[in-house]
Amino acid sequence: MAKTCAVCGGKASIVTGRVEMQDGFVCRNCLEKSLWISDPNCRTSKDFHARFQYLEDSKKLFDTFNPTTNIPDFFQVDVNNRLFKIGKSSECFLFDELINYELIEDGESVVRGGLGRAVVGGLAFGGVGAIVGGVTGGKKSKSIITNMYIRGSLKNPWIKDFKINIIDTEIKKNGWIYKNLKEMTEKIISALEMIINQQEQPKPDNSQISITEEIRKFKQLLDEDIISKEDYETKKNQLLNL
Ligand SMILES: [Zn+2]
Repeated sequence: MAKTCAVCGGKASIVTGRVEMQDGFVCRNCLEKSLWISDPNCRTSKDFHARFQYLEDSKKLFDTFNPTTNIPDFFQVDVNNRLFKIGKSSECFLFDELINYELIEDGESVVRGGLGRAVVGGLAFGGVGAIVGGVTGGKKSKSIITNMYIRGSLKNPWIKDFKINIIDTEIKKNGWIYKNLKEMTEKIISALEMIINQQEQPKPDNSQISITEEIRKFKQLLDEDIISKEDYETKKNQLLNL
């Protein structure tokens, strides 16, 4: 017997395909519309409704997206709408959704940014390390790279992390292909860093401190005879809300 889809109320037929959730079935049609077949966060019909809503909002964002930084197929930024797009995805993200990013070259973290960022002095774009190696005549740096990508994490209800593949095959490090890819990677990294820098900073609650500081400033003005005792008292009472 055909079951009912807990999302749209239509038939959730075993013939056309359905998925069982905690509170019923989802039909093939809804699964396709949600672009989401098996996600651990999507277990109830309520989750599916949230997913539909998200996709709808996402589409609106996508329609307004107009890149100001454009590295086609890799990374795009729309600084006016504060949005960015990763890879060929048809989804864009808000600036405030970027938590962090990291550039990995042959398994090694080369550049990091965002929350949980480590100090990477000198490591950025292969300066210091390479020079030191040359001077001491130590381990020769590898002349071939097989793997380079940027990964990161997002504050998004459905997409928690991302990966931008740049190199996944052997490439000579002294060739023009590597040079071009490296330049492109630098552009992506600067764009990511720009996004981090433009995020809304949560304001620390230091209102108490600033009031004390304000009063201190007026006290100093009083001490230097720039304002009168009366002015000072008025200002102080105002600031303390007396
Ligand atoms: Zn349905």
